[in-house]
Amino acid sequence: MTQNNRPTALIMIFGATGDLARRKLYPSLYRLFTKGKLDRFAVVGVARRSLTNEEFQDNVKESIGSHDHLDESKMDEFASKFYYHSHDVTDSESYSVLKGLAAELDSHYRLDGNRIFYLAMAPEFFGTIAEHLKKDGLTDVEGFKRLVIEKPFGHDLESAKVLNRQIRKAFPENEIYRIDHYLGKEMVQNIEVIRFANSIFEPLWNNRFISNIQITSSEVLGVEERGRYYETSGALRDMVQNHMLQMVALLAMEPPIRLTTEEIRSEKVRVFRALRTVEGSDVNSYFVRGQYGKGKINESDVPAYREQEMVDEASNTETFVAGKLMIDNFRWAGVPFYIRTGKRMEVKSTKIVVEFKEMPMDLYNRQEGSVSPNLLVIHIQPEEGITLHLNAKKGQHSGSTPVKLSYANKGIDGLNTPEAYEKLLYDCLRGDATNFTHWDEVALSWSFVDNISEVWENEKEASFPNYESGSMGPDAAEQLLEKDGFFWWPVTNLDVDKC
Ligand code: NAD
Repeated sequence: MTQNNRPTALIMIFGATGDLARRKLYPSLYRLFTKGKLDRFAVVGVARRSLTNEEFQDNVKESIGSHDHLDESKMDEFASKFYYHSHDVTDSESYSVLKGLAAELDSHYRLDGNRIFYLAMAPEFFGTIAEHLKKDGLTDVEGFKRLVIEKPFGHDLESAKVLNRQIRKAFPENEIYRIDHYLGKEMVQNIEVIRFANSIFEPLWNNRFISNIQITSSEVLGVEERGRYYETSGALRDMVQNHMLQMVALLAMEPPIRLTTEEIRSEKVRVFRALRTVEGSDVNSYFVRGQYGKGKINESDVPAYREQEMVDEASNTETFVAGKLMIDNFRWAGVPFYIRTGKRMEVKSTKIVVEFKEMPMDLYNRQEGSVSPNLLVIHIQPEEGITLHLNAKKGQHSGSTPVKLSYANKGIDGLNTPEAYEKLLYDCLRGDATNFTHWDEVALSWSFVDNISEVWENEKEASFPNYESGSMGPDAAEQLLEKDGFFWWPVTNLDVDKC
């Protein structure tokens, strides 16, 4: 696919006064603009509130003002390209006005009829908006048209299929960009490079040399003001179905024959197809759920999940999930992929630990702790980098000592940062869908997760809350690995800057 590195487009943001637009989209667009990565463009913000263009532009400037990389002189020029349209997306009338505005801006800014429709709104509106865009002629353009959709893409496989059918009436699969912002993270994108550009790793990347892989994504924050949404979601749907499974796919996929969108996605799909189904009575031996109780974070008392706003006081919603995934193919047979994710945990950290098998003979006496398994640690956030844990002779004594080789990327804090959105927006503008999820990936990951939620929703977890805020989750998550003879490598000791 030919990609224009300085794209031109009209970007329509539905949900323009919302949190996502303000915190991520405007700062990201601004960065692209200041870096000279956008050619001609204009933005139409759509939301219910009534605002003038000037008020909207002031809000946009304000949202950028709280972020770094500011260039005051460019701010006014940037904001002048923003237009506001007050519109209830369920109101059919108003789409014709929107169509007129889009045509006017298209001609004024010479946007070549290219359009991006970014749905930064609650998912129940996605289908309605997509249908209207087609029916009311907003998609009848000379140039490209692309639909960007935020998570969650459905609540389970059935609802995801319904949603997909609705949006597919208006947009073919290759025009749909489903956001998984983890795929915009520098070090998540780096997984492929580390694997496929280093001859020292690829020969070892299989069940002969790797004993297990651990992926942790822990948050210190609780559910905060998102209780209403979270009660219908939980950690399994909010984190595992999308972000955690995407990381598993990138770690486990076969080398693609080419680095094209189609080839990479089809290798990821093959991983999902090889995922061992976990259902019925097996669910609780492969998966552990947790819910945070009260506890201390940074020396301050914090409430239990059940005491949070909009949360049922007897809630059965999990705020933590740990699981063991098996990929039943030649490369990975017998190698567990352990995942864990949760809220109100001890540290905010996303890390991947690849643990290699031990040497056949214990020449240097592992029992004394002088030899440790080789680990490749990929630090996704907040710090970004790679650490390789080796054993070497150090100083006077003749034995072996664990040593670390580290590469620290100069990272910025926060997974869900504008950086990831900046990359993804730019990819979408250029028509590169590699780091967006294809429908086949969504469907397969929902069918995997649905088997687990079916059991958990029907069995109330009597032990909830079962982990203290500020801990690394329930004891059962430790036991999940212990029964296989492994343990979670403590994420705090693996930090790049502690090497
Ligand atoms: P929000 O509630 O802050 O904003 C919603 C926006 O939709 C507002 O601009 C509101 O005016 C508009 N809106 C609501 N009903 C409308 C209607 N009938 N007609 C027209 N406009 C209407 O939500 P948000 O946090 O910005 O999230 C938006 C989407 O992004 C959701 O799907 C969410 O799950 C997803 N998401 C958000 C974040 C985040 O960091 N906020 C992260 C990941 C995914």
